[in-house]
Amino acid sequence: MPGHMVAALSVYPELGCTGGPYEVWRRWGISDDVLCAGNDSTYAFLDDVFSEIIDLFPSEVIHLGGDECPKDRWNDCPKCLAKMKELGLKDDKGSSAAEKLQSHVTAHVIDFLASRGRRAMGWDELIDGGVPAGTMIMAWQGADRGNQAAALGHDVVMVPTKYLYFDYYQSRDRDNEPLAIGGFVPLDLTYSFEPCDSTLTPDAASRIRGVQANVWTEYITTFPHVQYMLLPRLAALSELQWVSPDQKDYPRFLASLVRLTRLYSAFGYNFRPLDDSPASNPDNNTNP
Ligand SMILES: [Zn+2]
Repeated sequence: MPGHMVAALSVYPELGCTGGPYEVWRRWGISDDVLCAGNDSTYAFLDDVFSEIIDLFPSEVIHLGGDECPKDRWNDCPKCLAKMKELGLKDDKGSSAAEKLQSHVTAHVIDFLASRGRRAMGWDELIDGGVPAGTMIMAWQGADRGNQAAALGHDVVMVPTKYLYFDYYQSRDRDNEPLAIGGFVPLDLTYSFEPCDSTLTPDAASRIRGVQANVWTEYITTFPHVQYMLLPRLAALSELQWVSPDQKDYPRFLASLVRLTRLYSAFGYNFRPLDDSPASNPDNNTNP
């Protein structure tokens, strides 16, 4: 929230800037239709939804999203424009009034979660408009975004597309791979990722709390396909977070994978076979 809301808007059209009607999308992508940030009912709706989430999940940290929220509707909406005026939000060099309005919505939810003893996490877009220091950040756009968030005092989980998006292809030979969203994240590239950059200050370094890999499933319809995207890159993910940089050794890792893939076979997992592909060049890794 407050983007990626078309499904909610289809049943609560009054929470959108135009009032709809809205239809649930049958394809992926980013819709311009988001929650109206100038409508008081939106904030009551968010409190209700997060109350239900809190009741369902015992975890201390709750991820509120915060990514991919286009501002087109807000900039044309009398209610949203009035809200920006009421809050005194203005464009400046760092961020637009509309970006600050998103921070306002986010801050509302962060405060709500805090009032219920929970802690908020969101995608790295959150730092663009500014969020309270206790908010955890998941850096998907790049490790530099995670480093930036850590320098600002946020705890960070690294999940950069370039290294840790397991819905990307594992080979350049796409014809012989199951369908993927695009991109190129081979095993050795994942293994090479170092979550804690050596140039970080000790305080910022202590804020890099871990890593995550993402397997978005727009193009994936079966569990064996999910397994294929995960394995063996998941083993590389484990090593890069648990093994310190001076202990990392790709040839040793590859040798251990021979044994590990025998276990995958024994358990009936679907996985990408090992190959002798040359070291990859991350500069050729373009986002889909
Ligand atoms: Zn609006």
